[in-house]
Amino acid sequence: MKLPDKGLDSNVIFETLSAYRKHDLATRGGRTWAYVYDSDRAEIEEIGRKAYTMFLSENGLDPTAFPSLLKMENDLIEMAAHHLNGDNRVCGTFTSGGTESCMLAVKTARDMALANNPEMGRPEIILPVTAHAAFHKAAHYFGLKKVMTPVDPTTYKAEPRAIRDAITNNTVLIVASAVSYAHGVIDPIEEIGRIAEENGILFHVDGCVGAFLLPFFEELGRQVSVFDFRVPGVTSISMDFHKYGYTPKGASMIIYRNRAIRRFQYYACAEWTGYTVINTAIQSSKSGGPLASAWAVVNAIGRDGYLDIARRSLKATDKLISFITNHPDIDLMGQPDMCLVSFTSGSVNIFHLIDEMKQKGWYLQPQLAYDCSKENVHISIDSAGLNQVDEMLSDLSDCINVCNKMEADHGLLSLQSMVAQLDPSSLDEKAFSQMLAIAGLGSVDGEAVLPDRLAGINGALNLLPPELTEQCLIEFFNGIFR
Ligand SMILES: *Cc1c(COP(=O)(O)O)cnc(C)c1O
Repeated sequence: MKLPDKGLDSNVIFETLSAYRKHDLATRGGRTWAYVYDSDRAEIEEIGRKAYTMFLSENGLDPTAFPSLLKMENDLIEMAAHHLNGDNRVCGTFTSGGTESCMLAVKTARDMALANNPEMGRPEIILPVTAHAAFHKAAHYFGLKKVMTPVDPTTYKAEPRAIRDAITNNTVLIVASAVSYAHGVIDPIEEIGRIAEENGILFHVDGCVGAFLLPFFEELGRQVSVFDFRVPGVTSISMDFHKYGYTPKGASMIIYRNRAIRRFQYYACAEWTGYTVINTAIQSSKSGGPLASAWAVVNAIGRDGYLDIARRSLKATDKLISFITNHPDIDLMGQPDMCLVSFTSGSVNIFHLIDEMKQKGWYLQPQLAYDCSKENVHISIDSAGLNQVDEMLSDLSDCINVCNKMEADHGLLSLQSMVAQLDPSSLDEKAFSQMLAIAGLGSVDGEAVLPDRLAGINGALNLLPPELTEQCLIEFFNGIFR
């Protein structure tokens, strides 16, 4: 588009925006089992929306100019510290999302280690293979070396001994998850906490997806192993509000054991001619909307509301898990500690299964094979999922039957031998574009072109070495965005 010479009428604007939405996944109604979290309570969504727009224009750049934002953030930090069994020294920072929270934990650890030992070598971060991509992104952005450690191939939980063996003089941070996104399991946090403490190394628990809801599962009598500040070695925890806190997007928190650690997260700059900058997190100017809506929604739902949500999610999760464990063609991966479940299959192509489900209006998320984790179907269960789970499982059963009758994919087999012979270093941008075109991916007039069925592409990506998958996706996005 070009900037219109004369501003458009608001009807035209909203009609256009609505039309743009035509191919988006549904965000409400329980048919989308990833990306969105639906509390199934319209009045809660309305409260979040209202608070978001109420503080749309306030700028979080300077909380002394907008004390309301300081107050709301401190309220949420106090709540979070309590929620995670922290004492009154526990402190935190509101952030734009889980990725920002995780990246800050890494930046803080790096800067604290360098301050204590300026002569040290390149800082290292220990990551179990199940740790979220956000930590890889942090290592990439902040120049740390990644040291990856294996997980148990049946439980998908981090191996404490492997973590201990990976420690060097340059280790600045150990990461573990409660729960991991891929398989929904809690790593052995107490054991890893002891290793971190013994070696005087900071230990971050990634509770982005788990930390908010797990305490409510515990209260409902579920077995939840201890992952929070009750574990002495834990020095920071990330926790998203915009996942299982059911608040609008743009809301997460990084929580620290004390201010002596957190100060290494802050950044100030007085070396320019403009206003002096002091930032607690990565963003500088930022809307007060996400913070206000998070404040509003957690207060609107309250403890009883979250307990009810946890109860509903558990009920749906139990139904899903029992379906998977009783079905001869699919296999549950690990024993999920929460309402994130993944399954794989030895007999049906799970990428075709995802396509079949999509045709029936269900969105399930593909996860590619990596290390000991086979390619699988990931399902995040939210409160609204309970209304839909019976219908979803009945369709899933039908779709598995359809996939069972499919011919073996000979195209994929020949691709497999082709991929085995590829030399990644010889591939240039043009070769990738050609590969994308063969796979049916591309763009026309700035719109991404995807084939109706993604099984072919997912199957191909699943076979590629991870570096090539990454390169393919970068070329694809570099093409679809103008
Ligand atoms: C979602 C998630 C993240 C990243 O959070 P975003 O809000 O998507 O940036 C990090 N860790 C875990 C365990 C997650 O589930």
